[in-house]
Amino acid sequence: MQSNLAERLQSIQQRIDGAAKAASRSKSEIELVIVTKNHGFELALELLALGENQFGENRDQEASAKAAQVSQSLAPGELAPTWHFVGQLQTNKVKSMLTYTSVLHSLDRLSLLKELEKQLVKTPEATLDAFIELNLTDDPNRGGIELKNLLEFAEQVLKVSQIRLLGVMGVAGLGVEPAVDFATILSSSEKLQSISASSKYISAGMSGDFETAIGFGATHLRIGTAITGNR
Ligand SMILES: *Cc1c(COP(=O)(O)O)cnc(C)c1O
Repeated sequence: MQSNLAERLQSIQQRIDGAAKAASRSKSEIELVIVTKNHGFELALELLALGENQFGENRDQEASAKAAQVSQSLAPGELAPTWHFVGQLQTNKVKSMLTYTSVLHSLDRLSLLKELEKQLVKTPEATLDAFIELNLTDDPNRGGIELKNLLEFAEQVLKVSQIRLLGVMGVAGLGVEPAVDFATILSSSEKLQSISASSKYISAGMSGDFETAIGFGATHLRIGTAITGNR
């Protein structure tokens, strides 16, 4: 049976509530970022009409066009959504990304930090919220900051006054128990908070594992297909 968008959204919201209760957490500390990638801007408009306004994207070209289309389609006085960038970002896309993104979930390397700083200083009043993406694998060539380098990298991020470091982000690996990776993300978050108490947020949990992530302190869920459907 085909369920519609509103039904899927409501069902996910109920599961978030249930997982929050099971973890004795307040659902008000858990933000739902709906990953709208691979869908047209109309889906974002439908979600706005359903009261959702935190959207995630992972490719600049798609996201910049979509953000523009959405903002052109808003009724007068209607609030624009907040765009989260969750994918790996090439440095030559930073300038464009900054024009529509409020929260970057995938700050994963020094060259990206340097380019962000270079572009941000051109607009002194601009700020960006960011999560440091962790590499949860044993392979240093994979994206993300290796756990042993987290604090050193965080110190570099904290020096950039136009970036507000929200916390850590991770994607649970395929073929491993998500709880193991989420426990690693949580302990990395605690380490980070030892040098930056305000960097207490955790971006973790996707369609297949968000309930587990909530049990390990996730504050920003990035959920796509379970709400948007496949495409
Ligand atoms: C696509 C994507 C998601 C959402 O994935 P679903 O499995 O569709 O919920 C979350 N985070 C990142 C980084 C993604 O690229």
